[in-house]
Amino acid sequence: MIEDLTSDILSEYYEKKFPLDRFVSYIGPDDFKTREFMFIVNENVVRNISFNTPEKMKEFMVSNSVESAYVGAVYDRPPSKNNRVQDIIWKYREFIFDIDLSDYDAHDSEGNYVGVRTCGCEKYSYCDFCWNLALEAALFINETMKEDFGFKEMKWFFSGRRGVHGWVMDNETKSLTNEQRTSILNYLTMINDPTRSQSLEEIPNEAKPLRNRIFSLLVKPYIEYVFLQDLENPVLQCQNCKSKFRAYDLIKEVTGRKAEGLRFDTLDKRIKESNIKCKYCSSELTNITKQEVENFGLTELKASRIIKQVKETRVFDHNQYNIIMPDDWKVRRNVANDIILRRYPRIDKAVSTDIKRVSRLPYSVHGGTGKIAMEIKDIRNFYPDSAPTIWDALM
Ligand SMILES: [Zn+2]
Ligand SMILES: [Zn+2]
Repeated sequence: MIEDLTSDILSEYYEKKFPLDRFVSYIGPDDFKTREFMFIVNENVVRNISFNTPEKMKEFMVSNSVESAYVGAVYDRPPSKNNRVQDIIWKYREFIFDIDLSDYDAHDSEGNYVGVRTCGCEKYSYCDFCWNLALEAALFINETMKEDFGFKEMKWFFSGRRGVHGWVMDNETKSLTNEQRTSILNYLTMINDPTRSQSLEEIPNEAKPLRNRIFSLLVKPYIEYVFLQDLENPVLQCQNCKSKFRAYDLIKEVTGRKAEGLRFDTLDKRIKESNIKCKYCSSELTNITKQEVENFGLTELKASRIIKQVKETRVFDHNQYNIIMPDDWKVRRNVANDIILRRYPRIDKAVSTDIKRVSRLPYSVHGGTGKIAMEIKDIRNFYPDSAPTIWDALM
């Protein structure tokens, strides 16, 4: 828990500002008595607890200054110390998705670390760039649940730190069994195989809606924000000490001549002519941006044309993709693999399939940040910094 988050402040929030009715509207008024809750109180986990009424729950949260609050499943009897959830009969639980930015740091099929969050953020940090991954994933799941499964409504909640939770609100999803939830997740992750080496070009017919969704939702942000980002200012790397330099800056520094906009060949020539070496160990430099372009099977010209065309295309779909991408299956496979690796939603499967799991209680306070796990009304325009903290709420 963070220092300033005192028990007085927590109690005050739950007493005066916690929107109890709104919370009840999410879970529905029925069966409140037999629903499990979980809390962190004085750094201890309190599970197997239930309340006769929402007001009783609120009283508990106020008088115990709960540091974190979670809502669980509904059972046939009120969960309690003597009726632990393992021993009573499960009735239903909301169908929930969990997106967390920490899942976006991963290894590729060869076991190499792939910093999907190329912005440099890791663990608890986030920025505009990587937060977009969470938003894209939410939009992707939202559309998949509605269009491919016919569910009517999803609500999204801020996790309080660096993620979002999506609740499918349709009543019939509540009674889905573990197996049924797993098959929905298996469908969604058909493309997102463990090795993440699958290609858009080889996606099975059953997953065509997902494939089309990749085109309409993920390709444009990928090309605009991820694909060959250094093309506009290539990166040179020392073959010995691995230091990196921006080619244009280094050439300007050494020769005094402007180098902006020079093509790879001319850059190479100028580096050779002017005998430009690593600033630290005087070893040879390699243009690693050029290598990246070649790894995709592209030329510099084709790569910059793809980026330009995608940026100019307002509404993106499969047809646009076909027009813009070269008619070369190797290039297409390389680019498609990279899109899936870097942009495809990464879902914490266990959260969705484990029917007894507890999930952060909407509008409770995140003990680690002091932020409110609020409902996100407009997922496209939500940024964690704009989420109110407990102190904002009490002002
Ligand atoms: Zn970031
Ligand atoms: Zn060096």
